[in-house]
Amino acid sequence: MRGGVKKYIGRRTPDKIPSSYMDELDYQEPLPFEFLIYAAPDTVWRADMQRFRERFRAAPATRDFFAFLKATDGLLHCRGPERLKIALASLDKILREIQDWCGDETEIVLFSDHGMNLQENRRIHLQTHLRREGFEIKDNFRARGRQTVAAPGFGLCGYAAVYCSDETDPALVSAALATLEGVDFSVYRDGADAVVVKGSKGAARILREENGAGVRFAYEQLSGDPLELSSIKSVLGGEGELDARGLASDSAWFERTAGHTYPDALANLYNSLHSPRVRHTADVLVSCHDGYYYGASVFSRMMRLLATHGNALRSSSHAFLMSTHRAFPPYVRADEAQPFLRG
Ligand SMILES: [Zn+2]
Repeated sequence: MRGGVKKYIGRRTPDKIPSSYMDELDYQEPLPFEFLIYAAPDTVWRADMQRFRERFRAAPATRDFFAFLKATDGLLHCRGPERLKIALASLDKILREIQDWCGDETEIVLFSDHGMNLQENRRIHLQTHLRREGFEIKDNFRARGRQTVAAPGFGLCGYAAVYCSDETDPALVSAALATLEGVDFSVYRDGADAVVVKGSKGAARILREENGAGVRFAYEQLSGDPLELSSIKSVLGGEGELDARGLASDSAWFERTAGHTYPDALANLYNSLHSPRVRHTADVLVSCHDGYYYGASVFSRMMRLLATHGNALRSSSHAFLMSTHRAFPPYVRADEAQPFLRG
């Protein structure tokens, strides 16, 4: 493992994000705000919003303006929802002022890049548990080890990414994690076109197939119903959406699971391990219950975590997208939201 805190606070460069949206931004907070928010949240969110307001007023009124207000995330993490409301009321005032200033024809689009659970969260004992189960936790895989994993912890989020040495079977890591308090389930790759979900509620395989007719998914219950999808699978069957192998179209699943406890779970969990969302995709991804997180212990010691995000549950997975001028579909996938962000 390399990088970590120093790399993070060092520079804000596009190489940290494979497909960077940062070039598009007319405003984002100065880098030190990302950390200062946890030390002086009120000062930082107020400064963030005032800087946005000033930058907006100085920009040409003839084109779109993109701003990223990030202080609301840190504020909610460390101070909770009541304090966030004050910040949102202040933002509302600034946006009204902008509307008065620019005229009614100016559309304001507001969206978040993730949701939040609004409850105090505890750290899961991931490393202790894996050691007890016979795994060695390392920050490099130079020496060969049959039960060797790396579990980098950074931001305090509702998920954990576990990396396995070549000799270590991700299925065994996932099975070991199923009994850890705070873990809802974990997921690992099963060949080139499937993932397996394993947790205390059982195990299931998500199979993806793509042909001329488009993308299709199957939810194969191996034991129990870890994603609570069996009733939806029955509905799809009743409506004739399932083929002989149990596959239904991606859009049929999306339509029926976008508002589910685990929103759009099949595509979301499959893509979490099979699409290049990050540069180094994990071997096992852990989804915590709301109320639990994993991250750097140095940060855990510094703060109480009053809200967080990152698991596959609804409170984290649902974001918002709103406009002063347009009505949007009830659910839009983040991957498909970009066309909605411009008027
Ligand atoms: Zn956050």
